[in-house]
Amino acid sequence: MPLDRFQREIDYLRISLTDHCNLRCVYCMPLTEIGYAPPAGVLRADEIERVAKAAARVGFRKIRLTGGEPTLRPDLVEIVERVARVPGMRDVAMTTNGILLPRLAPLLKQAGLRRVNVHLDTLNPERLSRLMRWGGFEQIWAGIEAACAAGLTPLKINSVVTRGFNEEDVVDLAALTLERNWHVRFIELMPLGGGECARESVSRYVSNVDTRRRIEERFGPLAPLEPLHQSDESKNYRIGDAAGVIGFISPVSEPYCGSCNRMRLTADGRFHLCLLNDDELDVRTALRESADVEALGAILLRAVGAKPTGHALSQGISTRERSMHHLGG
Ligand code: SAM
Ligand code: SF4
Repeated sequence: MPLDRFQREIDYLRISLTDHCNLRCVYCMPLTEIGYAPPAGVLRADEIERVAKAAARVGFRKIRLTGGEPTLRPDLVEIVERVARVPGMRDVAMTTNGILLPRLAPLLKQAGLRRVNVHLDTLNPERLSRLMRWGGFEQIWAGIEAACAAGLTPLKINSVVTRGFNEEDVVDLAALTLERNWHVRFIELMPLGGGECARESVSRYVSNVDTRRRIEERFGPLAPLEPLHQSDESKNYRIGDAAGVIGFISPVSEPYCGSCNRMRLTADGRFHLCLLNDDELDVRTALRESADVEALGAILLRAVGAKPTGHALSQGISTRERSMHHLGG
């Protein structure tokens, strides 16, 4: 397994398939002046497969497809097929807003996708439309049901807690776990990209300390669960004998950089070394010069070797070039 300079085991590759999206969540994408990668620069399915093979060769074991919105890729099923059959890749998952899952979920399952994380910030249709803009609650819920019916499980729900929009709705979201075997995870807002969304994310940040307090006020003390993996970024709890799990992902109030196991690949073919830092290493040029899997693996190991220790959000430092819809969370 690849080790970085700080002895972290890096075996998890998050691949952004596109920087486009069919929603415009207030903290992620502005309504105008969005910088997209030129289409010719976006990695093709065969190029993504070659990176996945190189990753498996140097010891990566887990891939997550993300975006932008990964389901917008017309060749998504082909990409899943190609990546899922790479020898040594144990887990292929996807993060999505769920809207296109009613059609895609069975096809993706058949292609080898194991599970999905669906982004749902509130169960309240009006507040959802304010926060996720262009998205409807019924559409996302239908996507969640389709994922469960297709067996893309265990289902995880990602909720970004945003002051003035949904900070009270965490209680209803947490209540989903009472009867359902789902993981509902609350994510702290991070400022990325230096623009309007970054400013929005700073002013609308809610600490998971407050989110947890709100949930405990309603359900009583949460019981902590042992982490399944040391690198799990989510601290997990259960309400009493509930069927599901509540998770807190707290990159701001409780950074987990010391156990980071991730590398990211942008849609335009660059290894992005840390979510909250602009440092990148190009792999597209090598791909387009027909580099073999060994050479691609060497580039990936260089990227692993260059990963920074951690982020510097507390000093007000984050990305300026890349926004969340380029990086995929
Ligand atoms: N479109 C898909 C989705 O929404 O799940 C995949 C890409 S989205 C960028 C990945 C995750 O990033 C989402 O689960 C969303 O909750 C999270 N996210 C987006 N902007 C964020 C921000 N500023 N801070 C924290 N999380 C954010
Ligand atoms: Fe789209 Fe996901 Fe960003 Fe929302 S968080 S705008 S669904 S990429």
